[in-house]
Amino acid sequence: MVRITTPPWVPEAGASRSVALEVLLHGPISRTEIARRLGLSAGSLTRLSTPLLEAGLLVEAGERGDGRAGRPSRLLDVVPASRHFIGMKLMGDQVLGALTDLRADVITSRSARFDNQEPAHVVAVIAGIAADLASQVPSVTALGIGVGGLLDASGRVISAPFLEWADVPLETLVESATGIPTVVCNDLVAFTAYEHWFGAGRDLERFAVLTLGAGVGYGLVANGAVVTSPDAGIGLVGHWPLDPFGPVCPAGHRGCARSILTQSAIVSGVSSALGRTVDYDEALALADHGEPAARRIVDDAGRGLGRLIAAVANLTMPQIVVLGGEGVRLVEVARLAIDEGISSDRDPRARLVPIVTTTGDNTEWCRGAAAIAIQTHVLAS
Ligand SMILES: [Zn+2]
Repeated sequence: MVRITTPPWVPEAGASRSVALEVLLHGPISRTEIARRLGLSAGSLTRLSTPLLEAGLLVEAGERGDGRAGRPSRLLDVVPASRHFIGMKLMGDQVLGALTDLRADVITSRSARFDNQEPAHVVAVIAGIAADLASQVPSVTALGIGVGGLLDASGRVISAPFLEWADVPLETLVESATGIPTVVCNDLVAFTAYEHWFGAGRDLERFAVLTLGAGVGYGLVANGAVVTSPDAGIGLVGHWPLDPFGPVCPAGHRGCARSILTQSAIVSGVSSALGRTVDYDEALALADHGEPAARRIVDDAGRGLGRLIAAVANLTMPQIVVLGGEGVRLVEVARLAIDEGISSDRDPRARLVPIVTTTGDNTEWCRGAAAIAIQTHVLAS
């Protein structure tokens, strides 16, 4: 089929796009700083930026003094509301969608549940949310969907166990159903891409992401680029050994990350200790109030998370570690145990690992998928 295309973000690729990209990622930013970052003369920057300003892609955004004598430097910025994108998170029984601007800031969000996992039905639900969100703005430039599963480069879902899907050409199906250029990618890669371009890692060369929720996710940015692999989506860090005395996971590992850190691991540990069913929030609340069994299980998870952070820090030397995912409230309740776990596996001379915790709101996954759609659009030649 013919791919749907939209006009490119920048009329010409090359140096002109590099200027626009610097402004998108770091704006408002002074002309002096752009020239320095890209190794351009002031004259070249003027020649490259003038058509971008004339096209309305960039705008003047005031002036900033650099603290030295001389003229303050003029600032450039993008207009975030000049383009709109949709980011979605596809789960086992629901789709979450968010409408964002050019910097992946969420404008509004929608969700819809489905009780039938047939791909055609799920695609119809996705198209319904997309149409609803698209009706809020003049046009949507691109749509991104994050899926917790194994995908190929064409956005085909090779396997997504929670949807019981194998070999579903999701990208093509959604693009046909919505008429919006679509990109489907692994949800963890998308989450990491957002942090890299617009989030806590936006000015960093190297950082790691760990997510807690139904699974345990790991993402890495090194040399200023998200590290990807055909294996992204298997959830490799899930079986990382953390507690030699922990519970056994379905794959037979004792005390692996999934067996102690997932929401279901904490819920089932606390429920079986108390002899009644509790949910994740109640398990954390009981631990917070000092209920001994809940406290023990949550602290074991916290220590495990600390050891995982230490392993990531020891092996990949990140400038920061971003913790996210819908289970991230564990960090609030088990902070002391986490610190204990980190220090047990770090050399005392090693610097403290700066930890940034996101809100754990589910729309963060949507923002990630939108970031992938934005990247695909602005980097398209
Ligand atoms: Zn395991």
